[in-house]
Amino acid sequence: MSKEIPLQQLKIKENRILLLNNMDIYSVRDLVLHFPYRYEIIEATPLIDNEKVIIEGVLVDEPKLFYKGRLSRLTFSILYQGETYRVTIFNRHFLKKNMHNGMTLTVIGKYSQKNHSITASDVKLKPLNELSGVTPVYSLKEGITQKSFQGYVKKALAFYHNHIQDQVPISLMVKHHLIHKELALNLIHFPSNKKDIIEALRYLKYEEFLRFQLTMQYIKLSRKENIGIKKEFDHQLLNDFIKKLPFKLTEDQVKTTKEILTDLQKETVMYRFVQGDVGSGKTVVGAIGLYANYLSGYQGALMAPTEILANQHYQSLIKLFVDTNVEIALLTGHLSNAKKQDIYDRLQSGKIDIVVGTHALFQEKVNYNKLGLVITDEQHRFGVKQRKALKEKGKQVDFMVMSATPIPRTLAISLYGDMDVSTIKTMPAGRKPVITKVIKSSSMRPILKDLKNYLASGGQCYVVCPLVSESEALNSRDATSIYQAMKSYFQGHYEVGLLHGQMDDETKDEIMARFKENQIQILVSTTVIEVGVDVSNANWMVIYNAERFGLSQIHQLRGRIGRGSQQGYCFLLTNSSLSDALKRLEFLESCNDGFEVSYYDLKMRGPGDVLGDQQSGLPVFLVADIFEDANILEISRNDAIELLHSKSNDPAYLRLIKEIEEQLTVNNKYID
Ligand code: ADP
Ligand code: MG
Repeated sequence: MSKEIPLQQLKIKENRILLLNNMDIYSVRDLVLHFPYRYEIIEATPLIDNEKVIIEGVLVDEPKLFYKGRLSRLTFSILYQGETYRVTIFNRHFLKKNMHNGMTLTVIGKYSQKNHSITASDVKLKPLNELSGVTPVYSLKEGITQKSFQGYVKKALAFYHNHIQDQVPISLMVKHHLIHKELALNLIHFPSNKKDIIEALRYLKYEEFLRFQLTMQYIKLSRKENIGIKKEFDHQLLNDFIKKLPFKLTEDQVKTTKEILTDLQKETVMYRFVQGDVGSGKTVVGAIGLYANYLSGYQGALMAPTEILANQHYQSLIKLFVDTNVEIALLTGHLSNAKKQDIYDRLQSGKIDIVVGTHALFQEKVNYNKLGLVITDEQHRFGVKQRKALKEKGKQVDFMVMSATPIPRTLAISLYGDMDVSTIKTMPAGRKPVITKVIKSSSMRPILKDLKNYLASGGQCYVVCPLVSESEALNSRDATSIYQAMKSYFQGHYEVGLLHGQMDDETKDEIMARFKENQIQILVSTTVIEVGVDVSNANWMVIYNAERFGLSQIHQLRGRIGRGSQQGYCFLLTNSSLSDALKRLEFLESCNDGFEVSYYDLKMRGPGDVLGDQQSGLPVFLVADIFEDANILEISRNDAIELLHSKSNDPAYLRLIKEIEEQLTVNNKYID
């Protein structure tokens, strides 16, 4: 199906073409690919009291017509499965003249068992099997009717008649009993029954996933062909380092560490996605990788999405590497120019072994001496371009992404198919799950007494709001006014601080430091505290307008508390009366597993919202659904791997690969 054929070719009128353009339909192909979003299906239903029913019956009396003013009522009786039912329909007086005793007709309406009657919304003067069974319904903009749109699609399909080629290799068509693409496209628009729709979707979903999986595997394979650097390091030194850590690694930390070390020693470039629940201990795993990389004679970079987090990682690494000779530096945007220049110089000369920082790490001025490993934390906040820029600072740099929005392993393997996936599920011993409670209130009043008791016992509390200031407010509480209210309420007793993303970095760091040192007891903030910050004495968290946050986000937030030996409590305030919103939040009361939370969240809100739209690099699928069609997603992955290795000569396969190559060049999607 060629892409660029303009709609004019179909002899559609110019003013109509403009309307179609409004719907992002510019070519004949776009028209064919604008699928119905649902179907109206007329098929017999059982008679269930008070439900919508569709039945075929025989007319057994003379219809009676009554008028009241301009309104009319038509009543008649039908025989259905040996019994008669009274049917009433309003304002269809014109039906009467074509109705005659003994004819078969179809009644659509609401059944009342008590009255043995049907109040009809429609009466068709035909037997059921003569009614066009399935009517597609399109999402359309004003000015175009369903009927005219169907006409355009019909023209478009006729235009392509016999010219639509299968995109699925013949062996797989046979293996999965798929119908041809041309038929699938015809049936998706003009099905005569449910089976047609199912068959059409089977082809289209499979093709969509296969193309995606082939792309992923293609990228992966071409990377493997890039010879990387085989890193060699002293295993004894590395083991000593691991033994000296302040804790014993969990089972999954050990497993992930091994996977990373194996990758580093391989000749291919590492491309690993490490996902773990908040608090599962990803940082130390990254640190071990950085140490191995250092021992092999290379520099490492750890990139964090915010200054607060970069700073914290820096502090953690300083502690972890205290007994070593590793030289660590922190590079962020707000350092003085002189300090930056000093770091640039020492990076270039190779005096710095590991640099931690924000996006400042890949600015043009930064040159590395021998960059060997790049780790980015909280992956979804960085675009592909930024990661690429950092990787290009060295040659065949090994690459690792740490993500704190974990998703089920099978899904991760499928969606991040171009990377190898490590999963850290086991939590460090002794972690108590945070106790979470939904409070149906827009204010803190119901828990104020408990909060005061908690503060009196010496604890600290986070208060999280969806917005910074009132001007943004849409019925939501903002951090600034909550801060002011709490400040005056607790005046003379407790110190209240305010933290949000619009503050400059120095102020943010200062507030955070004061909270860490318990000079501030209540920290009112936006989600800037979401990632990373570690204050073990803060074990309460109150979240205002919790319904405005994603579940994974709340899970991240509550990961800030209960990090020491203390029990953490998280209160979700909401005045939402929507039962869906409440149900979502209540899920967090019973579930503390980040994998399950994100899965539930993904299902309810979709991957774009949860993982951060385009930046996540997650594909948008037109027909297939990663949850409903999870089995096809997995099957197509295996097929794609097999296909790529088979070096098939199938014309459909060759066409697909050519398309994928073109697309990758255009979008510059390669990281290497
Ligand atoms: P995250 O995976 O959320 O980034 P961190 O790496 O910040 O988690 O680790 C959370 C906390 O758990 C840190 O204070 C870290 O020192 C600690 N930690 C990590 N691994 C272990 C372990 N195996 N046993 C005990 N504590 C650990
Ligand atoms: Mg982390």
